[in-house]
Amino acid sequence: MHSKVAIIGSGPAGHTAAIYAARANLEPTMYEGMLAGGIAAGGQLTTTTDVENFPGFPEGISGIEITDKFRAQSERFGTKILTETVEKVELNTTPFKIWREYSNEYDTADTIIISTGATAKRLHIKGEDFYWQKGMSACAVCDGAAPIFRNKPLIVVGGGDSACEEANFLTKYASKVYLLVRRDVLRASNIMQQRVFNNPKIEILWNTQAIEVQGNGKLMTSVILQTKTTNPTDNSVTTSETSLEASGFFYAIGHTPNTQFLQSQLPLDESGYIVVTPGSSRTNIPGVFAAGDVQDKTYRQAITAAGSGCMAALDAEKYLESLHDQASSL
Ligand code: FAD
Ligand code: NDP
Repeated sequence: MHSKVAIIGSGPAGHTAAIYAARANLEPTMYEGMLAGGIAAGGQLTTTTDVENFPGFPEGISGIEITDKFRAQSERFGTKILTETVEKVELNTTPFKIWREYSNEYDTADTIIISTGATAKRLHIKGEDFYWQKGMSACAVCDGAAPIFRNKPLIVVGGGDSACEEANFLTKYASKVYLLVRRDVLRASNIMQQRVFNNPKIEILWNTQAIEVQGNGKLMTSVILQTKTTNPTDNSVTTSETSLEASGFFYAIGHTPNTQFLQSQLPLDESGYIVVTPGSSRTNIPGVFAAGDVQDKTYRQAITAAGSGCMAALDAEKYLESLHDQASSL
């Protein structure tokens, strides 16, 4: 199978790219993934309850519903959607080659838009599978305003910029925010650290890790913590366990961009995100574009992913036009 535009990934970035490419009569093919990276087709929004910050839905919309709408809109304009995960690509030949999982044959494409997203890291501690989205989340900005978190003690795990930003953000709603840091220092930038230190509603629990989440069968209510204490006299380390009451638990321990299938054929930054030319979706291989969280470690929101998906489709269209112009001038 050959496509002018192949889109790998099916979150807001991929679907926006598909809508634009399809409306430009480029007949895109989308590889939406089959639980790629453990996430359902439709992307990270399928893992949340309500999306309240995507324009056009003043009452909010469920994560599943909005991803269904993205998909329907892509199909309406003629996007061919394959419920398959891309296992491998070959980017050093044109047309580019694309292998689906469990297939020995390959598809080809003139352009590829990579929109495979990033997966929030989780630790899968005891109780997590049951209480996930019942107080536990990996996105404070998305979920923090929910009524179950209002005026309640909340926990954020991590010591980076995300954790500091999310802890500060949650103080708008929480009675108190505990920041669980596994070491005795924060990794976050100085300015973010200062914001945390200066926020009276945040208490940092150093050298502390969560080991279990407990609840009442409906919502989480407390977390078992393990804290390491070093005796300054002989440097011996003791470990203690305590229970901390909390109605919310937010992971902010980093994201893993879904780039494994690229097998190092594109430059990645030090955190594994695809490098694009600033202000565009272009990678260092002409005809290969990247959009959404797979190339964005800063904003990581549905609307920014959608915006960059639009950019990728427009960049791909322009690239195809330039190929056409070159061919006509020969
Ligand atoms: P993703 O949404 O990550 O989608 C990528 C898709 O590509 C996935 O379905 C994945 O399975 C698929 N894929 C991966 N690898 C392959 C492959 N090799 N082949 C084929 N397919 C592949 N943002 C907001 O703006 N508002 C919110 O309320 C909000 N809530 C959130 C709640 C949670 C719990 C989480 C985790 C995130 C939330 N976000 C929210 C962030 C938002 O979901 C992301 O910023 C956005 O989904 C990123 O879109 P994307 O298109 O880049 O990729
Ligand atoms: P980071 O990788 O920077 O930080 C992850 C944090 O989680 C670290 O403190 C790390 O601890 C901790 N952590 C990792 N694994 C575990 C674990 N198993 N248990 C407990 N803690 C763990 O990720 P971020 O998402 O914070 O940031 C990613 C990038 O995005 C950074 O470049 C950051 O600067 C940027 N960013 C910038 C923002 C801004 O400028 N406003 C906002 C958000 C992100 P340890 O330190 O011990 O390794």
